[in-house]
Amino acid sequence: MQETDKRINRSLTKKEKGNLLKENQIEKKYIRWKEQAFKKWQKHIKIYTKFSTAIFKNDYKWVGEYVSGTYKHPLIFLFLDMIKFDSRLDDGETLEANYKITIYHELGHALCEYQRKMGLKLISEKKEEDFVERLARTIHYNTPLPAEAILMDQVLCLIENNKLKDKVELLEKKSKAKK
Ligand SMILES: [Zn+2]
Repeated sequence: MQETDKRINRSLTKKEKGNLLKENQIEKKYIRWKEQAFKKWQKHIKIYTKFSTAIFKNDYKWVGEYVSGTYKHPLIFLFLDMIKFDSRLDDGETLEANYKITIYHELGHALCEYQRKMGLKLISEKKEEDFVERLARTIHYNTPLPAEAILMDQVLCLIENNKLKDKVELLEKKSKAKK
C-alpha cells in the first residue's frame, strides 16, 4: 500500500518525497506494530476495515499526520525519527507504545472528520485534539474508551449499513423494473 496509494501524491512536499520510505526500507517491527495496532483499534472501532500509512524518516515538527479528506479509508503519515526522538524524551513510554499511540491518535482524527461529514457533532473541532489523544491512550492502555468514541462508531456503522440497504433496495427495484 505504501507506494501504490495515489492519495499520497496530492500533498507531498519535495522534502517529504525524499524522505518517504519504501516498504523494503522499513524495519519489520514497524510493519508488525502497525498491524497489531490496527487489530486492537478494530476491537473497539468497527467502522474501519482498512487504513494506509506512508512512513517517513527524518525531521518534522510532529510525529504523525492524518491526511484530511481520507476519512473513509484513512491515510496517515508517520514520521519515524520524530517518534523515536519523542520516545527518547519520554522515559515512561517505549518506542513501540509511542508508535502505536501515534497511529491511534491519527485514526482518531479520521473518525472525528468522518462523523462531521455525516452531520454528527459529537466532537467539535476545538475539542478534537484532546479527544483523540485521550482515545489513543485508552486504546493503548486498555482503559475504558471515551463514551463519544463508542457512540460515534455505532452511529457511523448504522449510517453505513443503511446506505448499503438503500443501495440493495435500489438494485432490487431496478432489476424488477427490467422484468
Ligand atoms: Zn492530533
